[in-house]
Amino acid sequence: MIVAMQSGATREEIHAVCAVIEQSGMRAVEIPGGDRVAVGVASAIPADLRPVLTERLSAMPGVDRVTQVSRAYKLASREFHPTDTVVECSGVRIGGREVVLIAGPCAVENPDQMARAARAVREGGARIMRGGPFKPRTSPYSFQGLGAEGVRLLVEAARSEGLLTICEVMDEGDVEQCADVDILQIGARNMQNFRLLMAVGRSGKPVLLKRGPVATIDEWLLSAEYILCQDNPNVVLCERGVHPVDRTYTRYTLDVAAVQVAKHLSHLPVIVDPSHAAGDWRYVQALARAGVAAGADGIMVEVHPDPAAALCDGPQALRPEKFLELASELRAIAAAMDRPLA
Ligand code: PEP
Ligand code: MN
Repeated sequence: MIVAMQSGATREEIHAVCAVIEQSGMRAVEIPGGDRVAVGVASAIPADLRPVLTERLSAMPGVDRVTQVSRAYKLASREFHPTDTVVECSGVRIGGREVVLIAGPCAVENPDQMARAARAVREGGARIMRGGPFKPRTSPYSFQGLGAEGVRLLVEAARSEGLLTICEVMDEGDVEQCADVDILQIGARNMQNFRLLMAVGRSGKPVLLKRGPVATIDEWLLSAEYILCQDNPNVVLCERGVHPVDRTYTRYTLDVAAVQVAKHLSHLPVIVDPSHAAGDWRYVQALARAGVAAGADGIMVEVHPDPAAALCDGPQALRPEKFLELASELRAIAAAMDRPLA
């Protein structure tokens, strides 16, 4: 439910509307919008209360009209937040005019690998370095990541090149170990791990939320809502490929249209991960170019100094020289869209 106030409604009238909503046990959110403020109800409204509340709010001084919101997510919706959200992290802005590059290996393996990767990431013009200390692997016998030591190596390598950091967390314990990491990533497998979503929400750090491979866009935005309703507005959506019709040649299918659909429904920034969608380095560059052309606010790509020796996702990792090539292609595509690379 959204209560549109008349232009010129007073602060007292707006507060009175919020108070009525809150007295009914629901959350009121002020939605700024030029000369007219609106108040959104960011809670589920019991069916029996809806007509009574609509009537009561419609009759209040300063209220123009009360409209019903059709979607289950509220804080994530454009209806509640008409302007684009820009997630700001130590001077890097995701969701503004600039297209942001995030790059690095799938997993943190050792200091030499991280130092070489960090150099390539910086030379390509990326501002944020990725690298997983906690890896969600299909087999329990596969490399699971270095844990706390991996966090330390990621932060050290990135800082020495002046880069920010992002890594995936799989449980609340991981969140605690990531105090020095700038952005927390929720992996595709954990998109609906609701306790984890609330934990990263409470951390207050920016969160990159990957779309699950079989998740609808509404489910993805409801997962974002879990983070937002912990009073953490810094959520970045990441499309990373959905379950494919043909798994023979690519791992997933990049849902290119999802970039604009998510932007239409939501104010949150959207980035594209071409690496996990492709699963094969040969196709990563093309998918990254498609992501920027489709209007993504950033690209997160896997880069490894020696993909053949990688402990995780080697087949989809770009070598440093391929990453440099990709970065210059993305710069040109972004420029054609009047968007500089950050
Ligand atoms: C990753 O980013 O390394 C990863 C595991 O990605 P996803 O969650 O998209 O599979
Ligand atoms: Mn990976």
